[in-house]
Amino acid sequence: MDLNYSPDDLAFRDRTRRWLEANVPRRELKTLDERREWHRKLYDAGLIGMGWPREYGGQGAAPMAQAIAADEMARINAPSPINSLGISIVGPTIIVHGTEAQKQRYLKKILLAEELWCQLYSEPNAGSDLASLRTSAEDRGDHFIVNGQKIWTSGGAIADWGLLLARTDPKAPKHKGISCFLLDMRQPGVEVRPLKQITGSAEFSEVFMTSARAEKADAIGRLGQGWEIAQTTLSYERGGNSLARVTRYAGAFTQLLRAARALKRGGRPLLEDPLVRSRIGRIYAELEVQRYAALRILSALQKGESPGAASSITKLSYSEFEKRYFELAEEILGPFGQVTAGGPEEMNLDVDSSSGVRGSWAYAFLWSRAGTIYSGSSEIQKNVIGERVLGLPKEARADRARA
Ligand SMILES: Cc1cc2nc3c(=O)[nH]c(=O)nc-3n(C[C@H](O)[C@H](O)[C@H](O)COP(=O)(O)OP(=O)(O)OC[C@H]3O[C@@H](n4cnc5c(N)ncnc54)[C@H](O)[C@@H]3O)c2cc1C
Repeated sequence: MDLNYSPDDLAFRDRTRRWLEANVPRRELKTLDERREWHRKLYDAGLIGMGWPREYGGQGAAPMAQAIAADEMARINAPSPINSLGISIVGPTIIVHGTEAQKQRYLKKILLAEELWCQLYSEPNAGSDLASLRTSAEDRGDHFIVNGQKIWTSGGAIADWGLLLARTDPKAPKHKGISCFLLDMRQPGVEVRPLKQITGSAEFSEVFMTSARAEKADAIGRLGQGWEIAQTTLSYERGGNSLARVTRYAGAFTQLLRAARALKRGGRPLLEDPLVRSRIGRIYAELEVQRYAALRILSALQKGESPGAASSITKLSYSEFEKRYFELAEEILGPFGQVTAGGPEEMNLDVDSSSGVRGSWAYAFLWSRAGTIYSGSSEIQKNVIGERVLGLPKEARADRARA
């Protein structure tokens, strides 16, 4: 692992920082149009799709430059780009598995946020066991007819297109009968019902497909290759943006210290309590571990290695850390940790949480519960690490579990 930035990296960081300082919106972006406008500005500045090939509108930038840009955005608390699933998951999937015609048709519009995307994988009875999915796509010559239901579709309510997994061969073994499609969400056969979460917002939806149409030209890869394609998608989802995430945690840490100084117990600042100091010190050490784990991934990416199954280690580690982190914050803040709006200025959390919503500690705490579920729960990550990273035999684990 190389922890030094090259002179070019440092110059790029400096340029990016100056651009962001001059351009970052000073107020929360509320409407879709405002968020699109900010996204477009980031694209024009070369900060969107940085790793994508130049011929498809990207910058062809090295992983280090991408990480630096994301890190600088986190540092200044810049609003996230609007088409995040399109850029982080759908685009890379089309780049790796799509035809030239699909690349020409879709990629630039993803980068420009002219078309917004969602991921149509999970179903009511197929989450961790995704290969059990039952949504069907029936071959009708030049198109497929899609029937079924998806759930937990992030951004479903604003999406124009969805990356869909559907069963095309019900007779094949379950992993082999799945295919991947690009589905037009704006057609009559697709109904989107937003789901209200514990936070009060509705970031994801249920999606019902009733005789919806997917064009044959919009099938990604070969028929029956859907499972393999989904693995590419999921490894992108689990590995990316780790350094920027650590920077956001670090921003929140500074604000937690500020709150612990302002809060008094027995007439003295909470930060002087030895128990509180010890817990804060421990979480800071864990934060540093996250930083080095992020740098290790970055080093590997920079050398051209793909994250693959090892990205499950990072995903497991940061999502479990995030829960401990915001639990501690809630303990320290007491009743102030329950306030979702207003309250004393020094008790506010002014850091974009993972969802891109600049919010309160209460919101961040509730949101942190999702991290050990989405893109594969912690238990599933442990299974992946055991089987695909450590090469543990399944039978041996089952024997031990029974023992
Ligand atoms: C914030 C958020 C956003 C999401 N966005 C999307 C999206 O955009 N698109 C999409 O398709 N999906 C999305 N999801 C869904 C997500 O992928 C699923 O919730 C996840 O895969 C778990 O599936 P499940 O909810 O059906 O739980 P289940 O699979 O029913 O799991 C229930 C419990 O059983 C455990 N379990 C299950 N199988 C095993 C096993 N083999 N070994 C050990 N333990 C096991 C799990 O760890 C969990 O604790 C999102 C989820 C969240 C929370």
